[in-house]
Amino acid sequence: MTSLHATIARNLARIRERIADAALRSGRRPVEITLVGVTKYVTPDVIRELIVAGCRDLGEARPQQLWDRAEHIAAEPLVRPSSANPTDAIDSAVRWHLIGHLQRNKIRRTLPCLHLLHSADSQRLIEACGAEAIALGRTLPVLLEVNISGDAAKHGFRPEELPGLIETLGAIRGVDIRGLMAMSGLASDAEQTRREFAAVRDLRDRLQAQSPPGIQLRELSMGMSGDFEIAIEEGATLVRVGSALFEGLHP
Ligand SMILES: *Cc1c(COP(=O)(O)O)cnc(C)c1O
Repeated sequence: MTSLHATIARNLARIRERIADAALRSGRRPVEITLVGVTKYVTPDVIRELIVAGCRDLGEARPQQLWDRAEHIAAEPLVRPSSANPTDAIDSAVRWHLIGHLQRNKIRRTLPCLHLLHSADSQRLIEACGAEAIALGRTLPVLLEVNISGDAAKHGFRPEELPGLIETLGAIRGVDIRGLMAMSGLASDAEQTRREFAAVRDLRDRLQAQSPPGIQLRELSMGMSGDFEIAIEEGATLVRVGSALFEGLHP
């Protein structure tokens, strides 16, 4: 066992424990929460260790980095570290999540590797994704990104515009709107963060009540290394954790 492998495996186990504790504290089941390992900070060999350790949902913030890494990882089979037998390969099927802004001219390259788009932030983008998904013969699952903190630098729909838009967005073919994604404000303390995540959940509940039949807003993607436990207590079903997974690595 290399120390890189041991460090990643230990970090992953700790995060999973903290996820389970936060779920149980709030009367939820740990299996309701999916950990998306955010790999934007690390190199492909570190990403491989994360996959070997059992994390199959991976997130990237930049479309180009997502394609590059998805190709890189798919090209080389993974082998269990304890095994000298090359047939003891690990199923390396990774579900790639895009968590940052998608430019419309990058949709075509991105969609074939994409499991879930967390950052659907405009009607035009969603329409263009739907058209491309139809051309590929699939339906793309998406989350609507909400700018809950109002930070000017953040992408996303304004919370107050979504109730008037949900019916239109829900009618766009080729995409399946599964829920909402949000980030806490850059300057928010723990209590403010909790209020922001609770506001996202309330918004989801209101949108669900007025959504056309067939739209199920089950997912809430919220929480990062610094606030994923608060997010779980407020209803997150997907947490996007990067730096906490890679603590103690000396590249
Ligand atoms: C980088 C990033 C994360 C992970 O952040 P950490 O604080 O390192 O866990 C989560 N979500 C988005 C949108 C990101 O860009």
